[in-house]
Amino acid sequence: MDNEARIKELYNYDEVYRDSIATVDEKGKRVWVYPKKPKGRYHNKRVVVSIVLLAILFAGPFIKIGGEPFLLLNIFERKFSILGAVFWPQDFFILALMAISFFVFVILFTVVFGRLWCGWACPQTLFMEMVFRKIEYWIDGDAGQQRKLKKMPWNGEKIRKRLLKHSIFIAIAVLIGHTVMAYLIGIENVKEIVSKSPTENMAGFAGLVAFSGIFYAVFAYLREQACVAICPYGRLQGVLLVKDSIAVMYDWLRGEPRGRMKKNEDRTNKGDCIDCKLCVHVCPTGIDIRNGTQLECVNCTACIDACDDVMTKIGKPTGLIRTTSYNGIAEGKQKIFTARVAGYTGVLAVLITLLTVFVSSRSDVEATMLRVPGMIYQKLDDGQIQNIYNIQFVNKTSEPISIDVTIQDFPSASIQKVGGGMIELPAKSKIDGVYIVKIPSDDLTDRKTKLKLEMKSGDELIDEVSTNFLGPIKY
Ligand code: SF4
Ligand code: SF4
Repeated sequence: MDNEARIKELYNYDEVYRDSIATVDEKGKRVWVYPKKPKGRYHNKRVVVSIVLLAILFAGPFIKIGGEPFLLLNIFERKFSILGAVFWPQDFFILALMAISFFVFVILFTVVFGRLWCGWACPQTLFMEMVFRKIEYWIDGDAGQQRKLKKMPWNGEKIRKRLLKHSIFIAIAVLIGHTVMAYLIGIENVKEIVSKSPTENMAGFAGLVAFSGIFYAVFAYLREQACVAICPYGRLQGVLLVKDSIAVMYDWLRGEPRGRMKKNEDRTNKGDCIDCKLCVHVCPTGIDIRNGTQLECVNCTACIDACDDVMTKIGKPTGLIRTTSYNGIAEGKQKIFTARVAGYTGVLAVLITLLTVFVSSRSDVEATMLRVPGMIYQKLDDGQIQNIYNIQFVNKTSEPISIDVTIQDFPSASIQKVGGGMIELPAKSKIDGVYIVKIPSDDLTDRKTKLKLEMKSGDELIDEVSTNFLGPIKY
């Protein structure tokens, strides 16, 4: 049989397993996964990577660059800090471009490396497999002991173990909840909330409780369902993966026909897979990778370690399950730089160039001028027409500035800040000012008059804005 026929015979079999997920039975009931404790060279590498990434994640809120957070995504005050660079709503297009670039990067990364992110860097997997699962193994034991404990009546041992495990789970969930809040509102605000009575900042306290509760529920109960059924990135795999994408794969050409190993058996007509199912038993999403690439596989590589161990014991080469592509197995050659990858790389290069240009040319101080909502114009007793405006000033620099606003090319127009004086804008802040503009009615020739305003700090021109001044209809 030639290679192509063998591929067809072995790979294009009944794909009925794709109609359901391993963690839900025919009645729609959850099948709880008890993965066997993973061990091996990939697992050891994952432990090191996880320690580094989790250390960065927990240290992140405390790291400042130029006095600004390493990462702050304050959606409530619409202030964002990325690597110490502060972005305001006025930088919306830069943030949007960043989001699009990130999205294209994710697509490119997935097309080339499959779900490497999921198994090795996603916080969900890091916490689940490297923190919560490890605590579970430590308290409840390996998969078999966990099953036994589950079936056990509520005796002293079970109560003690459950209490200990869930108390630790709750403590870690609280820590994660506070860390996530620190990325959203800043570490200083989190410190303030926890140092005061809950009644002094009910909203902040409720946020901390809600996040802690969500993380406890996710890691204690939801678990792999977050990756299998909820995460949108996981759902995208079906459209992103191609035959050249690298993923954890079972070498069906080498492994099939599978069959249990018997003593002194002639295995000349059998593949290398001895059907021990250890790769299935260690899988945290409960799947059998020998069925082919599946949506549920998070590329955690636990099955590679398990199978390598088996292969070593039976004296066969390791790598029956390995990171490769479909074409890597079927055709024996692995191509990374395909036409699709070249296309995505080109788009990403254009986006990054645009982003660099926009970021490097964005102004340090910006003003946005809007007429006060609900007000048209007012006719004053002295014959002048008055419009009221809101001007929002944003200072992105680390120096405070005073800003004066003047009207250009309209000598009879006057502008005055409500409360008098100039705008005093602290470093890295945003302030709203209310301004009254008056123009003699006789000088208005139309219902709308274009005005140009200059914002100056001393003699330095900071920004220019244009607006419409409304007046009565002239007949
Ligand atoms: S661990 Fe390896 S040998 Fe055992 S069932 Fe899985 S693929 Fe086959
Ligand atoms: S199939 Fe293998 S790599 Fe995929 S989730 Fe299961 S154990 Fe991890």
